[in-house]
Amino acid sequence: MKELEEVKGVGPKTLTLLKKLNINNTNDLISFYPFRYEIIKRSDVDSLNQDDKIIIDGSVESIPYIVFFNRKMNKMSFRLNTGKFLLNVVIFNRGFLKNNLNINTTITVIGKYDKLKNTVVASDIKFGFLSDETKIEGVYHSTYGLSGSKVQKYIDEVLKDIEVINYIPESIINKYNFMDKKESVYEVHKPSNMKRLKFAQEGLKYEELFLFMLQMNFLKLGKNKQIGIKRNVDFTLVESFIKSLPFELTKDQLTAVNDIHNDMISSNKMNRLLQGDVGSGKTIVAVIGMYINYLSGYMSAMMAPTEVLAIQHYENISKIFEKYNVKIALLTGKLKKSEKDSIAESISNGSIDIIIGTHALITDNINYHKLGLVITDEQHRFGVNQRSAFKNKGDSPDILYMSATPIPRTYALTLYGDMDITSIKTMPSGRKKVTTILKSEKEIMDVLELMYEELKKNHQIYVIVPLIEESDKLDMEWIEKVETQLNKAFGKNYKIASLHGKMSSDEKAKYMDDFKNNKIQILISTTVIEVGVDVANATMMVIYDSYRFGLSTLHQLRGRVGRSSLDSYCVLISNSETKRLEILTKTNDGFIISEEDFKLRGSGDLFGIRQSGDMNFMIADIKQDYKLLLQACDDSLEFLEQNKEIDKIENPYLKELIVKTSELG
Ligand code: ADP
Ligand code: MG
Repeated sequence: MKELEEVKGVGPKTLTLLKKLNINNTNDLISFYPFRYEIIKRSDVDSLNQDDKIIIDGSVESIPYIVFFNRKMNKMSFRLNTGKFLLNVVIFNRGFLKNNLNINTTITVIGKYDKLKNTVVASDIKFGFLSDETKIEGVYHSTYGLSGSKVQKYIDEVLKDIEVINYIPESIINKYNFMDKKESVYEVHKPSNMKRLKFAQEGLKYEELFLFMLQMNFLKLGKNKQIGIKRNVDFTLVESFIKSLPFELTKDQLTAVNDIHNDMISSNKMNRLLQGDVGSGKTIVAVIGMYINYLSGYMSAMMAPTEVLAIQHYENISKIFEKYNVKIALLTGKLKKSEKDSIAESISNGSIDIIIGTHALITDNINYHKLGLVITDEQHRFGVNQRSAFKNKGDSPDILYMSATPIPRTYALTLYGDMDITSIKTMPSGRKKVTTILKSEKEIMDVLELMYEELKKNHQIYVIVPLIEESDKLDMEWIEKVETQLNKAFGKNYKIASLHGKMSSDEKAKYMDDFKNNKIQILISTTVIEVGVDVANATMMVIYDSYRFGLSTLHQLRGRVGRSSLDSYCVLISNSETKRLEILTKTNDGFIISEEDFKLRGSGDLFGIRQSGDMNFMIADIKQDYKLLLQACDDSLEFLEQNKEIDKIENPYLKELIVKTSELG
């Protein structure tokens, strides 16, 4: 295939601009598909109104006349004969076209029609007549200094003698009867008609999804085969531990325990995502995992994204193991150096069984003694790098990720396709649905009244003020405004406090503690309490400007209330996007909500990781093309099943891709 430099018109400057668009070779260039299409129809001047868009062809009737304003700015005008009409054409800054616009040259003019002046103000001039009545034209992304039409020109150049790499196995092409790839690529750039365009797109989308799923599934199968710790555990001990809990596990919790137990007693390494709504009881499942790990003589590490959460886990888990001889320690960044050193020492000599902490757990100077299980809570808050950080700690420990953002299967396949997934869908019984109410700012008095009802019952309230990311100052103003408002209403009889980004973690922890002990009744905060904290007596959450949040985030936030048998409420205050927010008033099912969120906002807002680099689709869209995605998932699994020996894969490009993937590990 041609080098980019060899494409006509591409010089060093263009080369850097193309790189900005992620085009590094000619293959990238022909895979740079239009992001949308314009259907071009020849206009009939008769039927147009003032300022309508016009596309019309004809021949040049008068020699173009140019007025220069300065070196770059100019205006060219001439007359166009369409056979039926004579029109004036005006175009700015295209003086360079003049030499090609001779009398009788046939051209197509695209622009806006000024009916009063019988003039087309053209945005583009193409040479030649419009070929058909209707034409479909791709529109390409551009970057500063490189227009979409320039990009199109380079693509046209490459399309002249195009070579394509065909990745999809012959058998699959035949199964779906896809259009030949070379033809598809051509069709997608230069569509002949809608039907063929769709057909061409389908094959290219499928290929993209197939390759993605093939890599994901290859990694997953590979990980499943990674040798882990094969444990010998007396399950009756686990059973009696489960029996000793103050509640009965839900069916989904039991399934989750089973999945984890099976992973742990097999010689394969566990790489599992445990997902379920806030409050669905993931922690206890993880605790049972840690108990299994303890029984088999290994140490467990549990990492939480915030200090508050780490402390809470430490306290809860210590309580659960109160009557057992399990030694538990807490390691966070804010401990004194001497304390840290002493805990680091017990981690390395194996005198503790469970270590709970923050990122401090993966700092370089921590060396684990027989680390067998790693649990990361709220895993989407950790970056990819942190996720793999435990790789170098201990010999291939089992890994369990926990996430409170449940995602539907299609998206889970792409976002977490390389992991096994267990979902907890049912809530522990006795849990009450959080009654969710939508209010506008005008109705603030109603909100205050609802709050008062709860305060009178000696219940507590979270108030959430969204972070306005651009400005700390605005955030503070917001918080202060709300605090003043609430103090005016309730300050006499109730204690109100705010948590905000400027506080030290000590201060935050103190306020959290006071809230837990009901020394504070109303806690105002930005989203710092978004994950994990557990205050059963808090029965209400009020969220200001709730439209600023994604549905999943709001759902997670409201999961902070309704943690007991008390009736609980979530009040969403918003003056906009009420239609979107309404779904929260109708359902408490995190899976449905995240699906809706995904449809409305795309994956980018839902997840902190994985959306950018890992899922860079050129043509496919996992929202719209999820059926193809599921097919591609099944097909790729079948392919891997049938091609266990990489060396024997016939398609050399596919082979190369898999070899590359295997190096990722
Ligand atoms: P998650 O981590 O999924 O948000 P937690 O594990 O913190 O949820 O559980 C929330 C609360 O529910 C905890 O207080 C926990 O003790 C309790 N819980 C967990 N499982 C059950 C159950 N099966 N029945 C009753 N309560 C449960
Ligand atoms: Mg949790």
